[in-house]
Amino acid sequence: MERLVYFHICAIIIFAIILFATYIRRATKGTTNRLFVVLMWMGLVSTTADLITELIIRRIPLSQADIIIVNICLYSYFILRNGMIVVYLFFILSVTHTIYRMREASVLVPLLGPYGVLVCALALNPMTHAIFTVTAEGGYERGPHILLLYFVSIMYALGGTGYLIYCKRFLTLSKWISLLSMYLLSFIAIFLQLFIEELLVEPFSTSIAFLLIILLVQRPEEIMDPLVGLPSWNAYKTELDKVIATKQPVQVVAIRFINANQIRTFIGEEIFNLSISEIAFHLGEVCRGYRLSFDLFFEHPGNLYILIDGRDCDLEELVPKLYGAAREQTDDLKDMGVRLIPRICSLSCPEDLRLRDDIISFGHEFFGLVPYGKIYSKASDLVGSQSFMIRTNIVGILNRAIMGHELEMYYQPIYSVKEGRFLSAEALIRLHDSEFGMISPGVFIPAAESRGLILPIGDFVLESVHRFIAAHDMEELGLSYIEINLSVAQCTQRHLPDNMKNLSEEYGVRPDQINLEITETTYENTGEVMEYNLQTLSDAGYTFSLDDYGTGYSNIQRVSRLPLKMIKIDKSLVDDMNTPDGDSIMRNTVRMMQDIRKELVIEGVETKEKLDALTDMGVDFIQGFYFSKPLPADEFVSFLKEHKNMA
Ligand code: C2E
Ligand code: MG
Ligand code: MG
Repeated sequence: MERLVYFHICAIIIFAIILFATYIRRATKGTTNRLFVVLMWMGLVSTTADLITELIIRRIPLSQADIIIVNICLYSYFILRNGMIVVYLFFILSVTHTIYRMREASVLVPLLGPYGVLVCALALNPMTHAIFTVTAEGGYERGPHILLLYFVSIMYALGGTGYLIYCKRFLTLSKWISLLSMYLLSFIAIFLQLFIEELLVEPFSTSIAFLLIILLVQRPEEIMDPLVGLPSWNAYKTELDKVIATKQPVQVVAIRFINANQIRTFIGEEIFNLSISEIAFHLGEVCRGYRLSFDLFFEHPGNLYILIDGRDCDLEELVPKLYGAAREQTDDLKDMGVRLIPRICSLSCPEDLRLRDDIISFGHEFFGLVPYGKIYSKASDLVGSQSFMIRTNIVGILNRAIMGHELEMYYQPIYSVKEGRFLSAEALIRLHDSEFGMISPGVFIPAAESRGLILPIGDFVLESVHRFIAAHDMEELGLSYIEINLSVAQCTQRHLPDNMKNLSEEYGVRPDQINLEITETTYENTGEVMEYNLQTLSDAGYTFSLDDYGTGYSNIQRVSRLPLKMIKIDKSLVDDMNTPDGDSIMRNTVRMMQDIRKELVIEGVETKEKLDALTDMGVDFIQGFYFSKPLPADEFVSFLKEHKNMA
């Protein structure tokens, strides 16, 4: 009876296409991906071997050469085909992050044992002919123990199916179904082949199952970052979810290149990405050297995360090696006059941190929690620290602050150089938490912005400042206006102008008594509503300043077009004034702003020398610790009364 080989041809084409796509997508790194590639090669070679066997045994009687070829093909087929079932089990274990257990003999022996028996039976087959024989007259004939192969395969399949059923709760339905489809389709194919012997559909059914897996499990957009060809940030998050759901112990090593953004701009996107790939490759080599089961993920612009399954690795030894490898690779960039600066930290889950978001934010923030020069930090040392506690408890802190009375407005006087007195002040918010004490707005304002809690805080600021103005005789204090910082979220609120109007009416505050500070990032990210708000509020008589000039990608042309009255130069430019370049930058910035008729406020002036230098340059206003730190309202009022005739 001639059996149909067309399904084999289709299977070979499918395996080849999947392999091609996998290589093109560069989805070949990491344990899961590597196992997938191995499976595809096994599928391709075993199906081809089976196809060759089928075609040759049609020509009975077989020549001596035919017999040799058929024997080679059959041994390859049996070893690879059954091997696939074992590797597939490993693949499932890798997808569910339990593959690190394979290093324990108590797990590995029962898992590989049956396959070992099968390989031994095949090795003895030339003598025993227990599995199959190939003769010139009879072609391929099954031996008395051929069922051993089926028995072993079925055992593995049942084991895998059982494990998948157990794992259902931490896989998405589509992934779960596609992983399970391998077994379901194989059972169906074997069943069909039992009844219709000429229908050789088994390899074909496997290839279809893999097609489902590449579409739904190995999704490239989910797992690969196309620019650097490494598993992506999304994949990292998904893997962390899995790890946490399965309560698997893992260790995370986070590597952050703290100057990635600058270097990328300097050397160009392509070379930068190439460098990152190179570094990642060498980090992987180090981990492979320790025979770790790990995955390496990339997050823009320059963060790498190594997720190491299990607890076997000694981080004290590994991390310095990883740092060394990263440093060595970045040496290559030295020829271009630049160098990536790596910072590295490690954490154990669940001991140090157990929630996904905490692990993620730790990876983002660890280097901000340690002194600038510290290269390697351990989560266990940081997790208990005050600043980390604040960062991880920030939602609770913010909610407490918004509900209770933990927010307060401070005022920092601003000195008018021309008038020789304090003409205005900036309102700066302060948070006194009952548990953590005073928390800087530099920490809680960005946290509130990213967690959607900034609006109530913004409303508190607006109301407090209006109340302050209403409660004091501004003229007597010599104050023309108070500056208020607006957050991105406030600027995108359509009702901001109405809100301001209501407050102004309620408290009897004139628009010219308030100056609103926005930043370039605010302006860039807000678009139409911001433009509408800026225009409407300007028309109503409010003035605007651009805060923190010199920290973003300032575009002077755009600055000149915006309806801004004032520009506030950031403290970093003032700090740099000690250097010849810094001095020249400040001089030119001041001249440029004067040319486009913007009033200038210089922030962060702490010394008399700087005050004098800036006064000589002809700036309009000066704000800084030299005059006063931000003060609580009553102290601020006393300060003004004391310094009324400063000139
Ligand atoms: P900013 O608007 O640029 O405020 C100036 C910051 O520089 C203030 O920090 C002020 O205390 C500090 N500063 C002023 N002069 C000196 C100096 O001579 N030396 C030093 N070392 N620092 C000086 P602060 O109060 O910690 O505020 C940090 C940032 O938090 C502010 O930067 C602003 O972006 C934000 N922020 C503060 N209050 C509010 C608020 O009410 N609403 C919003 N949306 N953001 C606020
Ligand atoms: Mg400000
Ligand atoms: Mg500023």
